[in-house]
Amino acid sequence: MDSRYQPQAIEAKWQKRWEDAQLFKVEETPAREKYYLLEMFPYPSGKIHMGHVRNYTIGDVVARYKRMRGFNVLHPMGWDAFGMPAENAAIANRTHPAKWTYENIATMRAQLKRMGFSYDWDRELATCRPEYYRWEQWLFLQMAERGMAYRKESYVNWCEPCQTVLANEQVEAGMCWRCGKPVRQKKLWQWFFKITDFAEDLLVHCDLLPGWPEKVTTMQRNWIGKSVGAEIRFAVENSDAVISVFTTRPDTVFGATFMCLAPEHPLVPTLAAGTDQADAVAAFIERISLQDRSSKAIESYEKEGVFTGAYCINPMNGRRMPVYTANFA
Ligand SMILES: [Zn+2]
Repeated sequence: MDSRYQPQAIEAKWQKRWEDAQLFKVEETPAREKYYLLEMFPYPSGKIHMGHVRNYTIGDVVARYKRMRGFNVLHPMGWDAFGMPAENAAIANRTHPAKWTYENIATMRAQLKRMGFSYDWDRELATCRPEYYRWEQWLFLQMAERGMAYRKESYVNWCEPCQTVLANEQVEAGMCWRCGKPVRQKKLWQWFFKITDFAEDLLVHCDLLPGWPEKVTTMQRNWIGKSVGAEIRFAVENSDAVISVFTTRPDTVFGATFMCLAPEHPLVPTLAAGTDQADAVAAFIERISLQDRSSKAIESYEKEGVFTGAYCINPMNGRRMPVYTANFA
């Protein structure tokens, strides 16, 4: 026996045996217990990297273990193949996004096959295929018809070079995680899902997840973001405007001496208009829109603000409170 492992010979031989025997093809066998195992679908960005190797090896170990324990394991593979990266790469390479995407899929599929992962390739999918995304569209329509998907204008993290919206997690110290250029706040019409309607259900289910690390369920609870408190209305002096503030600590409002509005708050330009603070407020809004506004980044900033020229009234004690726009709350 050769004491050295010869991957070219051994892996190719066994992978062919597996493929000829259709070992990983899944058929419905109601008598056997099912086990569905899905790792994340990769983005067809070019070639697989060590992150794919690690991630899919972990999943494959679980799939094989469960198969050996007698489960009917469905271990599918697919491609998360929509989005701006394909479009940007296509522009950069002067090619069609579909061509770029399908070529990458072919390359990466061949690489994953060489890794010997136990996928049922008959069930491969790509999210850019109409047979797939028609069901996403169908689901979306069900939600839109029930008012669970709706549009409103809001601020987003915008990367100009990538021409895309970024999640807070994709902004690193004010820079785009992909191109490293500064991210700015941009007002756009956005689709929203009304997940607040499900906050209670989601919270209950956080408690029912067995074996999840406490820090993950805490993260989920914070993300669901339900908090109990009161909405307090501050009348703006010499104006019909009212500033509504939600607080979990209404008892502290007695001590409030000034009011801060986010630079994006629609009232800010209105309050400053016609006062001698108008220019200073406009300049502040422009500058702050370039800052990373994720909660992590905000903690590290010098806290700063500009007086809007307006006052509101503390409803608890009737005192005048200057209204500022600021980069913190
Ligand atoms: Zn970018």
